[in-house]
Amino acid sequence: MVVAAVGLAALVAAGVDGTTGAHAGAPGISAGPDAQGAAIIPAQGVPITRHPLKGKIIGIDPGHNGRNYTDPSYLDKQVWNGREWEDCDTTGTVTDSGYTEALFNFRVAQYLRADLIRDGARVVMTRASNDGIGPCVTARSAILNDGHANVAVDIHADGGPVSGRGFAVLEPVADGPNDTVISSSARFGADVRAAMLDGTSMPVSSYDGVDGINHRDDLAGLNLTKVPKILIEVGNMKNATDAGLLTSATFQQQVARALLAAIITFLR
Ligand SMILES: [Zn+2]
Repeated sequence: MVVAAVGLAALVAAGVDGTTGAHAGAPGISAGPDAQGAAIIPAQGVPITRHPLKGKIIGIDPGHNGRNYTDPSYLDKQVWNGREWEDCDTTGTVTDSGYTEALFNFRVAQYLRADLIRDGARVVMTRASNDGIGPCVTARSAILNDGHANVAVDIHADGGPVSGRGFAVLEPVADGPNDTVISSSARFGADVRAAMLDGTSMPVSSYDGVDGINHRDDLAGLNLTKVPKILIEVGNMKNATDAGLLTSATFQQQVARALLAAIITFLR
């Protein structure tokens, strides 16, 4: 059972790599053992940077958590999201066959984290497993802010209309705390949209936003961010075609690679 004060610290201190004590960095931050940023000069052409993200900190928030459903009173706790009161967290959605959004989000986050570390980044994650409860959406924002991420992504999948397909990139609306990262988040959102279309077979959403982009002022993850951030709804778990993709490990890896490409483009 996660109790806010103790649980959050324990979650972050537990590390983000599924091991304990394997890294000596700050709690919640991990880096590969060989993040040297060395360049490889091919026989012809421009140098290829082996670790293009050396020195960068990337935040990942895999939405929800695998045991959120066990503690409704925790989820119902009201938190201030910068504009209004919002539930601490929700269970997330699920495909008709029972594959949970929480698991999807965490799988993509794991793939992305591995890709990022391989490319030299340090990674801050808001939860270390899919076996816990929470943290609240406000705490998730704080973890990524306090981790001084250069850019961050909230990973979700939607529970939309059965006939609706596709991904949507949700972007922040200026509200004070996030004022300084509105334009950078929009630029990152465009990078994510382009990378998703380039690297996956998921189309832009047929029902959410305009041409795959939606501006949202009702989400703590976007209202409270002080680092460039978007939230991606990778697909619609209630649509059979999308669900077939979302539950595929190959597709999940493609999404991670697309997010990686967008992050590299954004930080270049
Ligand atoms: Zn979600």
